[in-house]
Amino acid sequence: MRNYTTQMDAARKGIITPEMKAVAAKEYRTEEEIRDLVAKGQVAICANKNHKCIDPNGVGSMLRTKINVNLGVSKDCKDYSIEMEKVMAAVEMGAEAIMDLSSHGDTQPFRKKLTSECPAMIGTVPVYDSVIHYKRDLATLTAQDFIDVVRLHAEDGVDFVTLHCGITRKTIEQIKKHKRKMNIVSRGGSLVFAWMCMTGEENPFYEHYDEILEICREYDVTISLGDACRPGCLADASDVCQIEELVRLGELTKRAWAKDVQVMVEGPGHMPLDQIEANMKIQQTICMGAPFYVLGPLVTDIAPGYDHITSAIGGAIAASAGAAFLCYVTPAEHLALPNVDDVKQGIIASRIAAHAADIAKKIPHARDIDDRMAEARQTFDWEKQWECAIDPETAKAIRDSRAPEIEESCSMCGKFCAVRSMNKALAGEYIDIL
Ligand code: SF4
Repeated sequence: MRNYTTQMDAARKGIITPEMKAVAAKEYRTEEEIRDLVAKGQVAICANKNHKCIDPNGVGSMLRTKINVNLGVSKDCKDYSIEMEKVMAAVEMGAEAIMDLSSHGDTQPFRKKLTSECPAMIGTVPVYDSVIHYKRDLATLTAQDFIDVVRLHAEDGVDFVTLHCGITRKTIEQIKKHKRKMNIVSRGGSLVFAWMCMTGEENPFYEHYDEILEICREYDVTISLGDACRPGCLADASDVCQIEELVRLGELTKRAWAKDVQVMVEGPGHMPLDQIEANMKIQQTICMGAPFYVLGPLVTDIAPGYDHITSAIGGAIAASAGAAFLCYVTPAEHLALPNVDDVKQGIIASRIAAHAADIAKKIPHARDIDDRMAEARQTFDWEKQWECAIDPETAKAIRDSRAPEIEESCSMCGKFCAVRSMNKALAGEYIDIL
């Protein structure tokens, strides 16, 4: 029988939970270190009491950077088992979290399937699901309807919920006054904004925040404070709307922590490269070190079809400057629902960004695999190179498709291979080039 509510409550009581032990072992940290970081809110272990098959992970800027993959049942992909295969493939490829953004049919069976079979952290956005769940238009939903969906997701075992609590009726005026190029591009944020405009009422997730905290405390659901005003283009980055919401998210972080509810804070978005580091630092001070969960940032607006790259560039900088959690972006971003190959490309790009940042942050043992790769390259041990590769299948296919002139090198330089020449020169051997 557990004598604590949330991981944060346990940590503050000095208890080391099984989840903290698991995180400590994965991160090469002591159990006490993890407990103390959870107590301070600097690490979130998103693990709902009802998600029994979870393989716990910690999210925090001093830990290995985690990545999230968005999936879910939609009109174009309604088959639960096909979507579940994609989920398990994403976990296999290294995703620590899956956000279920289902937007079609009866969403509960798929959500329950996720929390009973998938070991990754499961996140949802209850405001999306509200319209689907009640099968009623947005304007007819009440504040209580939204809260009841949060409770339903908590009971179903969801580990973190994105709630756009940080916009208020004041935001409506801000958005009108500041004339952003892209207004609001957050899907959940736009729904909350539209609901406030249509009903004339205050944001229910802000107004009834205390009731939501009670639900999250009961099931140990981490609140991922959504950034409704995240910039949707470079021109809107770091503007008044974004920063004003961030200040409110800082206040809401404090209120959640006062009730032992774990928090992550969501962030940009589209952002020029030179603004990313400052944004990470501002978030860390305003939100007192709460883990920062970023979508991108995408460092240019002109690369549709390649936004996994624009976001990986921004994600690497963001994570090296303090972001803890990267939401993957696929080549289909801004264009279409991602297919299986898009999902793979998005995951690989995010993993590269996360890993590059972890090396820069000197996360314990992050670089070990790079050193093994360097040794394998130096000795032409191709099998070992595939073992170290982030995507061995693609690496091997490229080499096999262009056979080398001499087995130990590759067809890039052939007998001009620098590695071969150096190995031979240092061994005092003759180097034949022609
Ligand atoms: S041939 Fe060139 S690219 Fe290929 S292994 Fe040798 S040095 Fe590297």
